[in-house]
Amino acid sequence: MKYKTLFRSVLLMGCLFHLPPGPAQETDALDDPEQQRVAPFQVFDNLYYVGVRWVSAWLLETDQGLILFDALYGDHVNLLVDNIRELGFAPDDIRYVVVSHAHFDHIGGARRFQREFGSVVLMTEADWLLSEGPAEFREYPRPMRHLSLGNGDTLNLGRTRLRFMQTPGHTLGVLSTIFTVYDSGYPHTAVLFGGAGLNFSGADRLQMYLDSVGQLLGIPGVEVNVSNHPDSGDVFARHEMLLDRQDDDPHPFVDPESWTAWLELLRGDARSRLDAELSDN
Ligand SMILES: [Zn+2]
Repeated sequence: MKYKTLFRSVLLMGCLFHLPPGPAQETDALDDPEQQRVAPFQVFDNLYYVGVRWVSAWLLETDQGLILFDALYGDHVNLLVDNIRELGFAPDDIRYVVVSHAHFDHIGGARRFQREFGSVVLMTEADWLLSEGPAEFREYPRPMRHLSLGNGDTLNLGRTRLRFMQTPGHTLGVLSTIFTVYDSGYPHTAVLFGGAGLNFSGADRLQMYLDSVGQLLGIPGVEVNVSNHPDSGDVFARHEMLLDRQDDDPHPFVDPESWTAWLELLRGDARSRLDAELSDN
């Protein structure tokens, strides 16, 4: 696939928001480990995809252990642990689990990583509170409260540094992370937007979301979209291109234009929703 085609498909993908499973049939397909299993793969020197077909999990390797972004849920947690082992890593080496937000598909496996592998779970204060109240969409094993992070906080593990932003909207405590990935030693700035789905309502929340997207657009030099649902970043199409990559080809995940285009698309959709809500009142 050529970049132009990919770029267009990213724009199309951006229209599909990650609504929680609705019809029973679709729910079954999303929850079925057989249908959801994806062989794990390396994307950068220090970043691996270990998620399933509809929800991402990413493994970041450092010189002092591993960092896992999102913990999946239900039977998919077994797939996640298997994927980590299949890549030759030990789940016991996961020092931190960064939970992008407290919805079951991202937080569901967090408690297991705490109990079985001794990982420290990181979330914003707002989403710790969410995880301590009634579950939105679906129940999950509640993690014990570990570390809270907010805007401007950083976390160092060995020579790796994560920078955090609270980007509320999808939940009140969506956590986004900025970090560096390396392509044969060459650094690129990557961002994981912790909650892009517009499946919520209310003018205040929509305005919050718009502010968050604005904040993300303001981060200078973003080159890589580490999306927490693979469709949002066209993860599997890019992986296919990575497998076919020739020596002189650019890295298919390094695509600053599609990062900006995706955020602009989200902003446009959120603005239309906000306009509609305001004109209803
Ligand atoms: Zn969510």
